[in-house]
Amino acid sequence: MKTKTKLNLAVGLLLALILLLTILSAFYIFAIKRDTENILKANYNTLEYSRQMLSALDGLNSGNVGAIAIFEENLAKQLGNITEAGEENATMDVKRNFSGLLQNPDDLVAKANIRQGIFEVMKLNMDALKKKSELAKSTAETANWVIAIAGTLCFLIAFNLMVNLPHHIANPIRELTDSIRQIAKGNYKERVHFDSNGEFGDLANSFNVMAQKLEEFSESNLNKLLVEKKRIEALLDNMHDPVIGLDNGGTILSANEEALKVMGLTASDAIGKQASDVARKNDLLQSLIVSKPNGPAVIKIFADGKESYFERENVAISITPTGEKDAIAIGNFIILRNITAFKELDFAKTNFIATVSHELKTPIAAIKFSLKLLENPTTGSLNDDQRNLVESIADDSRRLLKITGELLEMSQLETGNIQLAMGKCAVSDIVTMAVEAVRTQAEQKRVSIATDNLEVPEIRADKDKTSWVLINFLTNAIRYSHENSGISIWAQREDQFVLLSVKDNGQGIDKNYQSRIFDRYFQVPGRSKSGTGLGLAISREFIEAQGGSIGVESNLGLGSRFWFKLPVG
Ligand code: ADP
Repeated sequence: MKTKTKLNLAVGLLLALILLLTILSAFYIFAIKRDTENILKANYNTLEYSRQMLSALDGLNSGNVGAIAIFEENLAKQLGNITEAGEENATMDVKRNFSGLLQNPDDLVAKANIRQGIFEVMKLNMDALKKKSELAKSTAETANWVIAIAGTLCFLIAFNLMVNLPHHIANPIRELTDSIRQIAKGNYKERVHFDSNGEFGDLANSFNVMAQKLEEFSESNLNKLLVEKKRIEALLDNMHDPVIGLDNGGTILSANEEALKVMGLTASDAIGKQASDVARKNDLLQSLIVSKPNGPAVIKIFADGKESYFERENVAISITPTGEKDAIAIGNFIILRNITAFKELDFAKTNFIATVSHELKTPIAAIKFSLKLLENPTTGSLNDDQRNLVESIADDSRRLLKITGELLEMSQLETGNIQLAMGKCAVSDIVTMAVEAVRTQAEQKRVSIATDNLEVPEIRADKDKTSWVLINFLTNAIRYSHENSGISIWAQREDQFVLLSVKDNGQGIDKNYQSRIFDRYFQVPGRSKSGTGLGLAISREFIEAQGGSIGVESNLGLGSRFWFKLPVG
């Protein structure tokens, strides 16, 4: 049944009950009214006529002329108001006796009979009055009962409607609301079941159809997602680089075949497991994830039957959930880029540079020796042009020796062949040695070198390598200083370190390049490229290998201060 019909029926029933109560009440009110009206009309009037007739009869005795007319008038009224059984006979007796009395006014018997008749009429009406009053009373009592019963029935029916009707409508709505919430949460298996065949039944059917379609839709989407997932997995598996995916809690979500191969694990050993648990038995994973999450950029692994090199990259994954503004981290990917081929090329280059620079050293030394011989007067005197040429060759061979020396030094560093002879050394010794090494160069450019405050504690360092660094600082300072300018060297203690500075008043270095000048082969653009760009890179390697640090402060056009710090010995 339709809800509208149900509501109409319920409201209609209530209206019918109200109508029934109204009709019942009206019926009984009319019944009581009719009873009391009867009493008034039928009996009370008779009593009044009888009283008038009795008083007129008394008036006859005292010779009242109008009394006859009053008696006749009331007798006529009484004759028109006969209502009770026996009343007509009694009234007719009165009439008959009154006629006799009119003919014989002294007839006392007739008078007595009239009086008797009137009393008879009065008695009849008094009895009727009593009976009717009792009837009215019983009608009122019946009315009470009937109205009370009908009222109670109406109340019970109305109460029943009041309790059940809202439930009947509200319950399906509540059930439907709950089901809609379930659907909103993605629980597409949710269905509603209403017993009724009405509108709620239709609604339930429509809802169930919708839920079923959503379920089918989500399943088809799930299928698509699964296909997409498989595609990505296949893509990752076909990559030559190992890729490991972790969630925020450190669980391994994915690892492609290459990753499993380099780790020496099977998919069931790793996928879905806590990375820290797996790493306990796997050194590579340990170094990748647990101990050094941002560990060394290049990792050496034995893979493909040889030593392979991988560059580790950690890619954090974050998503912005639908309807929200802020992104949340959901995990990360560790990608190991296989750089073995580049490393092999790099080794080949380093070996080549090492071999060439080593091989060049001997002929250059021979050239230098020959130059020394040429400069020696015993070999023969040189004219000015020849001397100039010899000096220029000596300059070039010095530069050549420096370049080959730096290249050799760098290739040794790159192959990890740095040998340190650590020991206690006085800073003043290192400074004296370095200043002596660049003295000729400084004199040629008329640059003065001043030293100051070298009374600092001894440092713990490799004397040769540290001198090498200082010589490189000084060579650069001389090279980039203006003629007739000065360079100062000073030392100071800083906690457990000694800081050595070399300050020049030369060209200075643009702020944009200051962070890069310690990189290999870097030279400030726009300047003469006489060097290799390796001097400061080697210096940094030397200083850092000794547990120190290195840096520069410079203002373009105002000069530079190069410094290094080494631990107190
Ligand atoms: P190079 O062999 O070119 O001198 P370095 O590594 O020693 O190589 O220096 C790198 C670059 O830093 C130089 O090419 C130069 O441009 C800049 N540089 C180094 N020292 C100074 C200095 N004292 N004043 C200005 N520029 C300098």
